[in-house]
Amino acid sequence: MLGILPTGREHHKNTELTSLFWSIKADQVDSFRAQGLSQWKNNVLKLAPHAEPILDQVHSIDQLVFAPYYDVVMRLPFEGNVIFLGDAAHATSPQLGQGCNLALLDAMTPANAMTQSNEIQSALKLYADKRRGQLQYYQWATRFLTPFFQSDSRTLGWIRDLTMGLSCKAPVISKLMISTMCGFQEGLLKIRRQS
Ligand SMILES: Cc1cc2nc3c(=O)[nH]c(=O)nc-3n(C[C@H](O)[C@H](O)[C@H](O)COP(=O)(O)OP(=O)(O)OC[C@H]3O[C@@H](n4cnc5c(N)ncnc54)[C@H](O)[C@@H]3O)c2cc1C
Repeated sequence: MLGILPTGREHHKNTELTSLFWSIKADQVDSFRAQGLSQWKNNVLKLAPHAEPILDQVHSIDQLVFAPYYDVVMRLPFEGNVIFLGDAAHATSPQLGQGCNLALLDAMTPANAMTQSNEIQSALKLYADKRRGQLQYYQWATRFLTPFFQSDSRTLGWIRDLTMGLSCKAPVISKLMISTMCGFQEGLLKIRRQS
């Protein structure tokens, strides 16, 4: 998978940044590095000729950062008085780009729960209850979608190419997709209420 995304501005500077993603399996990193930069650049340019100005800024394979991911599933996001937030509690593949949103909502929820309960254990249980629906939905949706974008299956790739464009035009599905990408969903049919 190749992706090119605007990612904001450099800290304390006005330079606009773009991120380029190139997805490979973790056990292929060494052979990818060994094959060298020009082979990779040719592969990218075949898919996206307009990526050339970005590729021109890459002079060494060491400039590419390998960012692995893994799945974390916890029955409860706390143990004793220790609380688990963000990726520590529910890391997934970055398919939906929601990891930061979910981590920020995680952080806000126990802070609010502490104002509603004088007892740490019941505040932690409240935190777990309030976050359960949304986290389960995003973990499910990410796991469901990842094979369509990152797998060896050509069939899933064809299904993705046939359906994704059309889905964006179908009113109900496109609304669900946008709401999901905005972090609003708590389930397929449930939108998150403000807390
Ligand atoms: C390739 C990739 C692309 C992604 N793209 C997106 C995206 O487009 N949008 C999005 O919202 N999310 C994206 N994510 C997910 C997002 O990065 C994470 O969900 C988010 O950073 C989780 O925040 P966090 O604070 O829980 O964990 P982290 O951001 O991992 O922060 C944990 C911090 O703890 C530090 N740490 C670890 N161990 C110790 C220790 N023992 N002592 C002290 N400090 C320690 C680490 O150095 C790190 O700074 C992506 C992830 C990957 C891998």
